[in-house]
Amino acid sequence: MNPLFASVISAVAYTKRTCPKCRKTQMVSPRDKKKTVICKSCGSEIPPPPDQKRF
Ligand SMILES: [Zn+2]
Repeated sequence: MNPLFASVISAVAYTKRTCPKCRKTQMVSPRDKKKTVICKSCGSEIPPPPDQKRF
């Protein structure tokens, strides 16, 4: 694989989201990082984590 392409992929790495109901983690695409996603295990909504980069 092209090393430049590989670094681009790691830069947009999927984030892990933990379901508050069943505690399972699932991968969320960077596009949905600030959106509520649906848990694939129990179907409940997983809200986006608070933005911790702004202090
Ligand atoms: Zn769940």
